[in-house]
Parts: sequence; structure tokens; C-alpha cells
Amino acid sequence: MLDSKVAIITGGASGIGRATAAEFIAEGAEVVIADIDEDRGTAVAEELGCEFVRTDVSEYDQVDELVESTVQEHGRLDVMVNNAGIGSETSIEEMELEEWHRVVEVDLSGVMYGMKASLPHLDESDGCIINTASIYGLVGGKGAASYSAAKGGVVNLTQQVAIDYADEGIRVNSVCPGFVDTPMTEELLESERFYSFLEANTPMDRPAQPEEIAPVIAFLASEKASYMTGANVPVDGGWTAH
Ligand code: NAP
Repeated sequence: MLDSKVAIITGGASGIGRATAAEFIAEGAEVVIADIDEDRGTAVAEELGCEFVRTDVSEYDQVDELVESTVQEHGRLDVMVNNAGIGSETSIEEMELEEWHRVVEVDLSGVMYGMKASLPHLDESDGCIINTASIYGLVGGKGAASYSAAKGGVVNLTQQVAIDYADEGIRVNSVCPGFVDTPMTEELLESERFYSFLEANTPMDRPAQPEEIAPVIAFLASEKASYMTGANVPVDGGWTAH
């Protein structure tokens, strides 16, 4: 499905990004994973048989360098997956401003930087972008003020950039996962109170595994999704259906 496509996956050293890298490689893509965690990124790249470039997505110069080095090495870029992110469960009154700024820098600006740096190359390859948003970009999340704001921004930015670049043949979509069993949610999912809250709000009564999000990203990256752009696709066990 992704034969010979060159793809960058940010946040590729863990959770959804790592599962997506494995899925892309199984589908025939050449993958570069980018992550802030150098040790884990190096180990995962070795395990999956792909490249790793240490990148902090909140630094535009680093994202630009990631994209340029990928194009230099592989000759093209077909798919940009802007997936790196950090969580936050703090309400506005409790939040230090530093936390607000960091979440917005990584979860929203990081996505914009990935799109800005990759668009000139995607223009040449008729490529596509997939952003990882969240159900909390579609509906509010209790306590998650900065996270909901950033993910809501990703949802709207996905639509906006999709409209701007449809004429150039570049498709731009996002996935909006519900709760997924990854290191980001490990502590939350261990709390009985939170798990009950999750079950009460998820018709499917359980969190997702990262391997249930990755194939949707791979589908959006493939020619099979050739008429999809500007879509924010919930992969949420029914959370946003009610
Ligand atoms: P994860 O397992 O923590 O993986 C995220 C990866 O991104 C980690 O390796 C993390 O490194 C890295 N990262 C953090 N900040 C970065 C930065 N500034 N630059 C580059 N890499 C950075 O989390 P995940 O659950 O797979 O999350 C992936 C995406 O899915 C995120 O955008 C998240 O918001 C979204 N999402 C997750 C869920 C969920 O329930 N898990 C639900 C909806 C949406 P560190 O570990 O060192 O921070």
C-alpha cells in the first residue's frame, strides 16, 4: 500500500508513532523516525530497520533540518506524519503559564512546523500530511485546557491547510484517537477512577492499542484515500459518537 514511499514520522520512538513506523515499514515505505528521546529513538530505529533523526519538533530549525536531510538522503518526501506530542491534564486556574506554552509549542506549533517544512517537497511528490490530533480536539476534555486548545488548533489547521493545498495535489488529514494505551497514558490508565471514567465514555468500553491507530494513518497516507482531504478522523471506540 505504501511501496517505496518516503515517510517521516515524528514521535516515532514510542506509542502511536512507533506502531505507525512499524505499519509503514510493513507496507513497503522507507521511514525516518524523529523524536526528542535519542536513546529510545536509536533503539527503536535499529529494531524496526529504519533511520532515526533526533528532533525537538518545537524548534523550527530542527524540523527543517530533519526534512532537508531526509530529502537529501532519500531523494524525495511523500508522507509527513506530525505525531509527536505531550499530554497535560491541568485546568486553567491550576496551570503554570510555562506548561501552557510548552504544550502549545509541542502539540500545535510542532505540527505547523512539520507542515511548513515539508510542504515544498510534498508539492513535488504530490504527497500528503497526516497530523495526530485527539478526541480532545473535537470535544472538550476535563482538565485538559492546554491540550484541548492545542489539539483543537491541529483539527482546524488540518482543514485550513487542506483547503490551501488541494490545488497542488497535497492531501492533509488528521486522526483523532480516543485514549490509547501508550507511555503517555500509562499512569492514567492505572488509576481505577480514570479507567471507570474511560469506560463510561467509550461505547467500546476500553482504550485502544497503538496498533489500532497506525493502520488508519497508513490508509490516509495511501492512494486508497485519494479523495480524502481536510478530514479529522475519529479513531475512538465511539467516544465522539455520543
Ligand atoms: P508517547 O508514547 O509518549 O509518544 C510520543 C513521543 O513523542 C515520545 O517518544 C515523546 O518523547 C516524543 N516527544 C515529546 N515531545 C517531543 C518533541 N518536542 N519533539 C519530538 N518528540 C517529542 O505518546 P502517544 O500516546 O504515542 O502520543 C502520540 C500522539 O498521539 C501525540 O500527539 C498525542 O497527543 C496523541 N494522542 C495520544 C492519545 C493517547 O491516549 N495516548 C490520545 C489521543 C491523541 P518523550 O517520551 O521523551 O516525551
